[in-house]
Amino acid sequence: MKKNDSIELKIEDMGVDGEGIGKYEGMTFFVKDAVIGDTIRAGITKLKKNYGYARVQEILEPSPYRVKPECPLYARCGGCQIQAMDYRQQLCYKQKKVRGNLIRIGGFAPELIDSVMEEIVGMEQPYRYRNKAQFPIGADRDGMPVAGFYAARTHNIIPVEDCKLGVTQNEQILGVVLSYMRENGVRSYDETTGRGLVRHVLIRYGFTSKELMVCLVINRETLPQEKKLVDALCKIEGMTSISVNINRKNTNVILGEETRTVWGSDYITDQIHLRDCDHDFALTDTAIAYHISPQSFYQVNPVQTEKLYSLALSYAGLTGRETVWDLYCGIGTISLFLAQKAGKVYGVEIVPQAIEDARSNAALNGITNASFFVGKAEEVLPEFYEKESRKPDADMLHPDVIVVDPPRKGCDEKCLETMLRMKPERIVYVSCDPATLARDLKILCGGGYELRKVRPVDQFGHTTHVETVCLLSN
Ligand code: SAH
Repeated sequence: MKKNDSIELKIEDMGVDGEGIGKYEGMTFFVKDAVIGDTIRAGITKLKKNYGYARVQEILEPSPYRVKPECPLYARCGGCQIQAMDYRQQLCYKQKKVRGNLIRIGGFAPELIDSVMEEIVGMEQPYRYRNKAQFPIGADRDGMPVAGFYAARTHNIIPVEDCKLGVTQNEQILGVVLSYMRENGVRSYDETTGRGLVRHVLIRYGFTSKELMVCLVINRETLPQEKKLVDALCKIEGMTSISVNINRKNTNVILGEETRTVWGSDYITDQIHLRDCDHDFALTDTAIAYHISPQSFYQVNPVQTEKLYSLALSYAGLTGRETVWDLYCGIGTISLFLAQKAGKVYGVEIVPQAIEDARSNAALNGITNASFFVGKAEEVLPEFYEKESRKPDADMLHPDVIVVDPPRKGCDEKCLETMLRMKPERIVYVSCDPATLARDLKILCGGGYELRKVRPVDQFGHTTHVETVCLLSN
């Protein structure tokens, strides 16, 4: 067996990045764009000792789970990895991915996982679910501006104005921006030279409020003929906020620090509504409104977010008296729902602007029992603990519930250690990466907690990402 050989493979599994996995003469092969159940002819691209990589040359027998992707650019764009797989099978894949991580990385017994794990909460409409899109702007061969997405593992832009995961308004907005650029000779930013003006177009849509936000990320203070752009954009139904964000750095980070509103409001408003009729786990019927500015973190799938938060809230098991910490709280999205059901909520978040939003969102909803701290969870929590433990009554040392919702890298060890010292009755872990979730649960369970419930929620259909909510208690 050598590189470039053609082999026949039956795809029997799928890896964490959505790649197909098959065996040939005892070797394991990883094949991008192959679907579990496919029989393919594959060309070997790389060989290691026990495994190798191959690419699909021909699908000899398509998998029963193979479907026609909605997006014609699916195979080239790096955004969706598993769009060619039936949505129900995507859910099975994600359920299995979470289970596998908990067993392999978390060290939990398969029987335990099977007894605590509930079925993944899927989407009813797995397309057009995103409320946010960030399109990089580049140039075609003639130097004309194009908007699109990066090809997998590159910074080459594939023109896509209508991403099937996003709202249809994106295409209309990009159309306006690109014709403004063409008509006024406004050039796209070039990463390699650092020249040109427009870097990204950020669009947000409030699914409940129907409000639209457009933010152009630019490499200078101002846009030429700004008024012409604004006049065209503000005619679009729902347009509420138009801004520019200034980013002059040679960096992959999309937004710079400074944002200037050029038309309308500094933010859009949206509502998250938890209903008690839809799901077995929702205990409540309540809505919270949020102001969302261009820089704020806000869950991208509002329909699934309602289910995610309902689940987190039901795992928290609040009766109205509890003290609750919400670590990694963003703009206070979960904190404010918790506050409606608890005695007191403390939110911690590293981004100062998000904490400003969290405070104004509390006021917007008339919530007075939530306080917010700016800082790293792994610093704020231990400092609070040390200070409290020196007080004679120290009644704040042991909260009833701690909720964590960290970014993909998971919780810092110092944060987990402090949580263990604080001994809350329940811990609710909301995770967007099952590998770091498993690593952190191992530490918490090593410190005396037991895993009671695990439920994945699909927030990101057609991608390999999966969200998970877990309940631990002692
Ligand atoms: N719970 C929120 C936000 C979750 S995203 C929601 O559902 O909307 C994770 C958040 O953690 C982000 O807002 C990010 O800014 C914040 N963050 C990242 N590292 C952090 C740290 N070390 N300490 C506190 N917050 C952090």
